Amino acid sequence: MTLPDRRVPHRRLLLGIVFLVLGAVLFMFLEKASGTRQLPESSATQSAKNMQRLVIALPGRDAGSENLNLAVETGAEEVDAGDPSSAALDGEPPDPEILPEGEQLTVTVKPGDSLDRLFRRHGLSVADLAAMLKLKEAKNALAVIKPGDDIQLVRREDRVLALSRELSEELTLRLARDGDSFVAEFLANPVERRPAYARGRIESSLFEAGADAGLSDTLIMNLAGVFAWDVDFALEIREGDSFSLVYEEVWQDEQRLRDGDVLAAEFVNQGRVYRAVRYRDPNGKVDYYTPEGLSVRKAFLRAPLDFSRVSSNFNPNRLHPILKTKRPHKGVDYAAPKGTPVKAAGDGRVIFRGRNGGYGNCVIIQHGGNVTTLYGHLSKFAKSAPKGGRVTQGQVIGYVGATGLATAAHLHYEYRLNGVHRNPRTVPLPEAAPVAAEYRDDFIQASRPLLAQLDAITPTRLARAD
Ligand SMILES: [Zn+2]
Repeated sequence: MTLPDRRVPHRRLLLGIVFLVLGAVLFMFLEKASGTRQLPESSATQSAKNMQRLVIALPGRDAGSENLNLAVETGAEEVDAGDPSSAALDGEPPDPEILPEGEQLTVTVKPGDSLDRLFRRHGLSVADLAAMLKLKEAKNALAVIKPGDDIQLVRREDRVLALSRELSEELTLRLARDGDSFVAEFLANPVERRPAYARGRIESSLFEAGADAGLSDTLIMNLAGVFAWDVDFALEIREGDSFSLVYEEVWQDEQRLRDGDVLAAEFVNQGRVYRAVRYRDPNGKVDYYTPEGLSVRKAFLRAPLDFSRVSSNFNPNRLHPILKTKRPHKGVDYAAPKGTPVKAAGDGRVIFRGRNGGYGNCVIIQHGGNVTTLYGHLSKFAKSAPKGGRVTQGQVIGYVGATGLATAAHLHYEYRLNGVHRNPRTVPLPEAAPVAAEYRDDFIQASRPLLAQLDAITPTRLARAD
């Protein structure tokens, strides 16, 4: 190795450089001799510190040059030549964060992309890609890429110095250049789940009350989802209804990432109290149950569309706008914007799909127990629910519209038992399977502390007569 022909005016600096090169060469020798190779555990702060001290770039051996390019930024007097981690020599344990010419780059996978295409588009070496894919870890982690995925890279011209891919919220794979090949490491960043509590009383809408209680829209939707078989959140919410819940917040690096699951909740709708607790049985099956261990699920949803899309100031008893009579109304009307997805209220089979007089575009589903449900005025049908096809509860079957005898977009929904109209919002519904008998004790053990927490944040509970 020779020093570049460059005059350094500062004697002490020159001395420092000589020591540095000697130290680096010695370090390289020791590394080679030890036969093992580990990535330095340098944190970003450590790297940043080193960066401030000294920035060194060495062209790769394959470039056919052994010249040293030294660039001293600041604090030349404090050059720490004895610290090998401050030098990133080619062939040394790489730390791309301290490579001065390493350019950070985030590439996003586009539809139809392969890794090969992605590399070519960004002018990156496909030989480097091949070298990376020789690693089992890389092959597994990069086997599936989908549009929208982000991949972080550090490049120097076409060479890849490092590549990072988030495998999950808690795990990142990092590949770092090591000579002409790459080494893989997995970086863990575990999330933490912290308990949180909220309660509220509805004055005008569930969303407003939820926001006042500090709940995100997602959490409010999840809360409504827990009670979707008992409460029609679209039309039956009243002033004075209340809720309380125990839930999780997901934290990472002392930052709140998002809301986690609802663990236990109570909803009081027009004086009726509903409670649910989340339970994971020893088989890993997770569901919500009443404190008595009955499933909150029922064969039918109370409302076959998202309540958040339904306009609350809608009067189903109005005069029929076209017939100008108060027609006998056998169903429930939900005013919602055209295009709002309409869901199958329960599992069943589509027995009718098409134009049906005043109902306009209409779907009728046959369910077990001789129940049929009907969905009218649809703007269009869902392709995945053809006539004769099986549908599952919650599956989208069509979209809200104003076809047939309707002046404004709304869903007309009917529920018939043995051919007789019933009010879908109040008809007693068959219940899903309770907690299995063998897990009963486990359920009681697991749910007791959650229900106690729920009691603690629901002081009115003691005062109630129920
Ligand atoms: Zn109607």
